[in-house]
Amino acid sequence: MSSPQSQSQRMSNYFLPTLKETPSEAQIVSHRLMLRAGMVRQSAAGLYSWLPLGLKALRKIETIVREEQAKAGAIEMLMPTLQSADIWRESGRYEDYGKEMLRITDRHGRDLLYGPTNEELITQIFRDNVVSYKDLPKNLYHIQWKFRDEIRPRFGVMRGREFLMKDGYSFDIDEASARTAYYKMFLAYLRSFRRMGLKAMPVAADTGPIGGDLSHEFIILAETGESEVFCHSDILDLPVPEAELMGDDTGDLAPLIESFTQYYARSDEMHDSAMFEAQVPADKQVTARGIEVGHIFYFGQKYSTAMKALVAGPDGKDTAVHSGSYGIGISRLVGGIIEASHDDDGIVWPWAVAPFHVGLINLKPGHEGCDALCARLFDTLSQNGLDVLYDDRDERAGAKFSTMDLIGLPWQAVIGPRGAEGQEVEIKNRATGEKHVLALDAAIALLSSPPESAQ
Ligand code: ATP
Ligand code: MG
Repeated sequence: MSSPQSQSQRMSNYFLPTLKETPSEAQIVSHRLMLRAGMVRQSAAGLYSWLPLGLKALRKIETIVREEQAKAGAIEMLMPTLQSADIWRESGRYEDYGKEMLRITDRHGRDLLYGPTNEELITQIFRDNVVSYKDLPKNLYHIQWKFRDEIRPRFGVMRGREFLMKDGYSFDIDEASARTAYYKMFLAYLRSFRRMGLKAMPVAADTGPIGGDLSHEFIILAETGESEVFCHSDILDLPVPEAELMGDDTGDLAPLIESFTQYYARSDEMHDSAMFEAQVPADKQVTARGIEVGHIFYFGQKYSTAMKALVAGPDGKDTAVHSGSYGIGISRLVGGIIEASHDDDGIVWPWAVAPFHVGLINLKPGHEGCDALCARLFDTLSQNGLDVLYDDRDERAGAKFSTMDLIGLPWQAVIGPRGAEGQEVEIKNRATGEKHVLALDAAIALLSSPPESAQ
């Protein structure tokens, strides 16, 4: 019996189609491991089915994002994947967006599209429902599938055509308060990525015709990343701010943001080598490759002007609202985390996003003592709220060990006839390979919290 919160599973009932061979179509390690670990399967170029193990990792990432968005005061909603072309004609982007947009016609001949992003739709919802500055500020987000007909879908879920994005939109009466909304998201992003075990660095991004300093991409370093980044090494070691700072009374967040933005950090698009040389001492210069996992952007009154999203100000006059948009690549993150955390044997999940916390291996299913001790451990850990994947299959020990290493759960707990007799469990820390043989109670205590190496 597992507790209602626990999502523990027995492998004999689960669906985990792992692969021994390295799939030839996969060019980078995260893609290979996601296929081998039975997390995803490609159904057409850039389109993936999420198998149970992959979906669990995806959901854990979503949960962290939701929790941090809530702390920053953003409210969740859900918009459809399909949108009417009309609102995109209003903003002027229907023609501009080009071939990346998947255009669809319904049976009545109406033009629809599969949303690549949601500025138009949220602006329409806002303008139809908010009329006064008194209802501001607002920050609304959703987590929904997007479609972009990428010319070169590749690297598995990292550059898919259909992908899961968290996209949020802030609405403020003026630029000063929009800046506060932006800063809160900046901090929420830093916190979200850190909780996933990642060091994401904010890099200055192009703000286009709006100008100003309010656009940042969040990049994690990885050799296989598609972006090239140049930064001051100190930015990588800054502590992540406390969530309380994003409460209702945010005070002036500018100095905190400045503690990050004071360091040179740019991707190739914005890089200025003279500035880099002048601002960063030679021994602090980092040039590396990275993966864009998030992007935040203040675009002012661009859509509100085009689509007439006006609110009455304190003086009674209508003004177009000031907005920003805030994206996180949820499905890309699954690949990004694996790029950042794996070894020769497979994935090494950080605790917070691990699909299960503990992999329990019964070396001799059918052996009374093994079955009983495994069942006790499985039940107790599950009741304590841990997610356990129990390998109760009748398989060779070697195959079980390599499957567990491949799927990379933070703890492994192994029980064979000798352990069953002495009521002892062998525990392995997946990240370090360290092993301990412990009595049942001590084993339960150890398995109930993250290994230091996986925090
Ligand atoms: P890129 O430069 O990688 O093409 P983008 O700048 O076009 O991304 P945004 O519009 O900023 O992407 O989207 C927000 C986030 O969505 C990105 O930071 C990224 O994490 C994710 N994302 C964008 N395109 C894809 C894709 N094709 N597959 C998976 N995730 C994506
Ligand atoms: Mg971007």
